[in-house]
Parts: sequence; C-alpha cells; structure tokens
Amino acid sequence: MAVTDDLACAPLDALKGVGPALAVKLARLGLKSQQDLLFHLPLRYQDRTRVSPIGTLRHSDHAVIEGEIELADVHLGRRRSLMVRIADGSGALFLRFFYFNRAQQKAFAKGARLRAYGEVRRGAHTLEMVHPEYRLLGEGQETQVEEALTPIYPATEGVGQTQLRRLIDQMLERIRDTPPRELLPPGLLPPGLPTLAEALQLLHHPPPETSLQALEAGSHPAIQRLALEELLAHQLALRHTRHQLQALRAPLLAGDGLLVRAFLAALPFPLTGAQQRVSAEIARDLATPRPMLRLVQGDVGSGKTVVAALAALRAIESGYQAALMAPTELLAEQHFRNLSAWFEPLGLRVAWLAGSLKGRKRRDMLEHTALGTAKLVVGTHALFQPEVRFRKLGLVMVDEQHRFGVEQRLALKEKGVEDDSHPHQLTLTATPIPRTLYMTAYADLDLSIIDELPPGRTPVETVVIPEGRRMEVVARVRAQCREGRQAYWVCPLISESDVLTCQAAEETSTILAQELPELCVGLIHGRMKAAQKDAVMAEFKRGALDLLVATTVIEVGVDVPNASLMIIENAERLGLAQLHQLRGRVGRGAEKSSCVLLYAAPLSAIAKERLHVMRETNDGFVIAQRDHDLRGPGELLGTRQTGLLALKVADLQRDADLVERLATIAEGVEQRYPELVEPLQVRWIGAAERYVGV
Ligand code: ADP
Ligand code: MG
Repeated sequence: MAVTDDLACAPLDALKGVGPALAVKLARLGLKSQQDLLFHLPLRYQDRTRVSPIGTLRHSDHAVIEGEIELADVHLGRRRSLMVRIADGSGALFLRFFYFNRAQQKAFAKGARLRAYGEVRRGAHTLEMVHPEYRLLGEGQETQVEEALTPIYPATEGVGQTQLRRLIDQMLERIRDTPPRELLPPGLLPPGLPTLAEALQLLHHPPPETSLQALEAGSHPAIQRLALEELLAHQLALRHTRHQLQALRAPLLAGDGLLVRAFLAALPFPLTGAQQRVSAEIARDLATPRPMLRLVQGDVGSGKTVVAALAALRAIESGYQAALMAPTELLAEQHFRNLSAWFEPLGLRVAWLAGSLKGRKRRDMLEHTALGTAKLVVGTHALFQPEVRFRKLGLVMVDEQHRFGVEQRLALKEKGVEDDSHPHQLTLTATPIPRTLYMTAYADLDLSIIDELPPGRTPVETVVIPEGRRMEVVARVRAQCREGRQAYWVCPLISESDVLTCQAAEETSTILAQELPELCVGLIHGRMKAAQKDAVMAEFKRGALDLLVATTVIEVGVDVPNASLMIIENAERLGLAQLHQLRGRVGRGAEKSSCVLLYAAPLSAIAKERLHVMRETNDGFVIAQRDHDLRGPGELLGTRQTGLLALKVADLQRDADLVERLATIAEGVEQRYPELVEPLQVRWIGAAERYVGV
C-alpha cells in the first residue's frame, strides 16, 4: 500500500537509536509514529550557513563569526566572567562566559582561531555574545559551515535538538528513496506549490537562500502546501460528518401551522424580517426527512428565543417533543419562564430540569418527559443524564453552543434515536463567527444569521473611565435609579478562584449599599443556590431592586428591559466577546442605555485596544472580527478546548485565502478523487480522532 499509510502506523522504535525510554519521551511531544516525526516542523531557524564579518553585526543578530583570539581575561565586575576578545579584521567583539572552568580558560590561547554562534548583544563597550556555542579551529582545519538553515524544533526534557534532528534526518533519508504519497491531486492544486516530499525536505533543511522571513511568516510555498493539505483534511472530515448525518433519517416536522399561528397572534410584537427569514429556513429543514444541522447566529438581543420557540412549536405540532439546553441554570430558568409564559396559554406543558431539581419535582419532570406530556423540556446539561428519557424527541436546540462540549451534544442527540430516526439540531449563538472559522470548523453546519435587531432599540453608549473616578460613576447610578431605571454593577473574575471572585462581589455590594443608602442593592453570584439566584433575579426583574451587583454569571441571555445602565469594573480583565455579551444586558428597552467600563491603570496595549473597540462600536460582528484579530480564532469559540480544529501547520488568519478555496477543492476531491479522502484524514487527523457527528 501507500508509503504514507505505512508511515502513519510505523512505530518510532523501528528507527535507529529509539528504544522504549526515548519512545515514551517522544510521545510527550505528541510524536507517536514515524509520520509524526516527519511532520514535526521547526519552530524557527538559525542561519549558520555563512560566517558574518564582525564589523557588520548589530544588536540582536544571530550569527556565526570566526576570528582570532586577542585576549582572554577574567573580569571581576558585578558578576565574575570570562571575557574573550575575538577579531576578524572587520571588527572585534567579546565572548562572555559566566560559567567556565580552568581548562576552558586555558584553551582560549591568544592567537588561536575560533568559530562561534550566538546572539549578538550590546555590551558595556563593544558588542558581545553571552555563552555562545563555539569551536576552536585547529591549524589549517577545514572551516565548513552548515549547508542549510538550522532547524530548531519543539523539544522536551530528555529529547534535545540534536536527537530530534538525527531522527528526523533518518525520516528524510527514508522519504528521499520512497517519497510519501501525494494526497493533493495536481489538477486541483493552486500552481506553484511544491510536492509533499519537497516541502518537507525544505522545511526541515531550508537551503541558505530560503527567505527566513517567509518561513517565519508562514507565507513560504512549502508551508502553504502543508497548510492547504491540513485544512483540506479537516474540511473533508467535517463534510464527511455532514454527509453521514444527512444520510440519517429524521422525523418530518411539517406541522399544521395551528400552534405557530396561535403563538404569533398572541405575541405582543411582530417578528423582524430577519426572524421571519431564519424561521422559514428552519421550517424548510424541519420538513425534510433528514436531520437539520443549523446554526443560528444573532447578536445579543436579536430575538433568538422567539425563533427557537417557533421551531419547537413546529416539532410539537407534528407530534414530537423538543428540548432546549442552556449553559447555566440561570439561563435555563429564564428560558423556561419565557417559554412557559408563551406556551402554557397554548395548552402546552413546558418542563424544566437542572442539577438542582430534586425529589418529587424531579420525578414529576422525568415522568412528563418520558410520557411525552411535557412538550418542551428546558434545562442545563442535566438533560444529558441517562435517566432523562423522552417519548418522542424530534428537535434538540442548544443556546450559546460554544459552551457545550462535543460529547455532550452527542449524548443528547442519542436520546432522540428511535426507529433509526435522529432528531433535528438547532444551535443558537450570539458569538458571530468569522468567515474563515465558519468555513472550516463549522463546515458541517448550515448557517442562518439574524442580522437585524427588533425596532426601537437605541444603541448603548459606552464610556471608558479610570477607577480613580469611581465616585462619579456611583453618582451616575444614583441619578439613573432616581428616575426609576435600574442598573447592573459587574465584578469580573478577580482570580482563578470562584470563591474569591464571589467574595469580591459581596464586598462591592456592601460598599455600594453604604454609598447608595437610598437604593435597594441586590447581589447575585455563581456560588449562590439556584433558588436564591432565581429569587434575586425575579426581584430585579420586578423592579424591587434598583442595583444588581453581579459576577459574570449574568453574562448571557439575562433580560430586564428596564435596566439601562451597566457598570463593568476591571473591564481591562475581560475579553471583547465577554464585554460585548455583558453590555448586551442593557439597551433592551426603548430608553437610551449606557455602559461604563471602569478600568485600573496601567492598561496593556491589548486591553487599551479592546476598550477602544467597545467604545467605538455596538456591532457584534465588528467586535468579533477585532477579537479574532487580537487573539486568534481558537480561543474565540473555545474550539481549542473542545478539540475541534486543532491545527498543526495551518493558521486560519494567516491562511485565510487558502480557506476561501477549500470548499471548491474539497468538492473536487470528493467527486474526482474519493480514494484520497480517507488517507488525508488519517494523515492529518489520525484514525482515532475522527470527528464525531455533532
Ligand atoms: P437573544 O437573541 O439575545 O437571545 P432574546 O430572544 O432574549 O434575544 O430577545 C431579546 C428581547 O427582545 C426579548 O425581550 C424579546 O422578547 C424581545 N424581542 C424579540 N423579538 C422581538 C421583536 N420582533 N420585536 C420586539 N421585541 C422582540
Ligand atoms: Mg438568548
């Protein structure tokens, strides 16, 4: 069979010099097969291919120099050091050693020739190299330099550069005789890209004329070649998942429209155009016998809940149940309250399940769910528990999906399996997904965008204020609440410790209650019991509380239209996505709302930029794009932690133009070279970690 597949399974200990002990250490670097070694690319390179005249060197250059020792002295400065002065006719510099022994010192004889490699730094008087690598050159000795740029690999304790180089060189030797299988069909490749073997040779041993800059920026064709192949492999895997899911059967949820019409008639507002469009897209999916896989993206406050309600009603009309999951109890409860208020008048029972639900209430809930008398079940991840059984689950909806792991979604999906039929899946997120990320990590989902806010909203005005002016902000809260409006005061995470964070919120609420004795100040944080949180939230919603001090538990989804001022303390500690989510809690009514971002100086450059972005725009999409630019896509959606799209070579930002071409190339491979799909996935994703259907 193909060489590639062999390498993917070829064990490392078949290589010269690899025993069981080394194999264990290599595994720590993620290197398990011979192929892994081949794809273990250098982090950076050193140029040891030429000797630089000392006179041409500047601070921070990395260079090989060669010259004659003029003197070697022990200096007794702040730190005792051995200073060796080297001159080559163009200039002179010092080699400085803090650690040295007598033998070493003696070897630096005046007049001896020496070659050194190291980083050049500005010393007290002249340039110097601290602890360079060096070699004394004997009389008339060959003075060869390296023939290629020197790769520096990601290494680990017990596995050094030399060892890695030796092993990788064995692999390169091997592929020189038998090149690895080409998995990118030439007809579909953008022109000018090297073959896989060429790319690997070049990346492990770049010839001296290779642009280090292009290598390090990732724009070099050899890197682009590998990045494209990697992205393609992931793309094919996602498409494969999608094809598989689409080959499954799902219930036809065409509905008779009765519930939907009754619901819309009772709704106190008309749907926005965007809500109508997205609902129609969902209705079309539900009316086909294949599982829907749709992601609804809509900025905070765009009215995703109504869209979810409509989808649920279509399932219910068709004789099925629907489930809606939220990431926190608070949100699940709020959904439960909203949806019950909408559904109960239609004669539909809504059940609610969270970890905190116990005893008889829990048994009741489980029973209604199992019997099918509960038409809609709202809850947290407690819905995943095996004891939760549905009678006829036709639709699974997940709010703010990026907080759920892949396995959790899978577990819930399995609950619907009956007669070989799988539930439809709808995901709701307020996090705008940049195009490149959508086209890669989400290529298995259809996308609907609610790109319109309900009418009558005035944009939230955002100001950025240093902590020193906190009293002004307190006065602002007082003025606002005197007018009958309400406010949030958010204390973000102050440490990794949940306890400390909640304590800080508690303290803040005590202080604010003293500073604002005429106001009713409430407190909500993550360590309170669900019932307690619920009670506080209900009071705030009712208007019994003027000011609500909170940790970031109120981040998503909380809806109190009369709240029109939000203070976020230590705003410099929060990311853009989170700030935007928090700010979305205000500006939900028709009144003008504002958000005060309090910060503690000094601000890092990135924090300054974030606060600036928040002040400049309310547009979730712009914010997401900036967030993406500032910190990279993996973190943005937590894809790193879910293991989705762990890229080795490619970089979604850097390789955006490759991403643009992916769909076309993937389609071409599927149609004309289907035999390449599997090997590509084995090579880049690994047989064990193929994508599960989500
Ligand atoms: P999100 O998309 O952030 O989940 P919600 O579904 O919570 O937004 O809706 C935010 C608020 O807007 C809610 O109070 C909701 O009742 C209201 N709303 C939703 N759709 C409309 C509409 N078409 N017109 C007016 N208000 C709406
Ligand atoms: Mg919501």
